[in-house]
Amino acid sequence: MTKFQPKSGYNYTYPLTKEVVSCIPDDTQFGNYQFGYMEGADFHHRYIGRSDTNLKQEIENQRYNKVEIGGTTYTHFKFCKASSAKEAYERECIDFHGYGEELVLDNINHPDKPNGTDYKFPVEDSVHIMNKSEYNIINFNIPYYGTQIILYNI
Ligand SMILES: [Zn+2]
Repeated sequence: MTKFQPKSGYNYTYPLTKEVVSCIPDDTQFGNYQFGYMEGADFHHRYIGRSDTNLKQEIENQRYNKVEIGGTTYTHFKFCKASSAKEAYERECIDFHGYGEELVLDNINHPDKPNGTDYKFPVEDSVHIMNKSEYNIINFNIPYYGTQIILYNI
């Protein structure tokens, strides 16, 4: 019998349990995750994060902190591997803005850059380049997603 292996990619949603997280492959340094809950077939994003060290361990640490200690209602999660700290950081910035920033998410602050780096903010720079900061709704291309979303520039 092959062991259950959760798949990388935001198309996949899994119950946020110790058993499921323990089945994530242990060989991924960089990546992202999203915690939330289900309402019917819809996944509601409530917390986003990334790993610069060990994606599986980071997800388990945050699951423990936020669910077992924090008592929050995160019941499901998604995760996505990245090939570099830069990719994971950029995706985290995109997730933070795309899923409603601190107004919707429990993330209080904009994601930190990886230690010792000075990567650009992909979302903020896109907005700046388009010079449309006076608009309430902004369309822009999202690296790695290959689609457009609407950002409310509050
Ligand atoms: Zn950002």
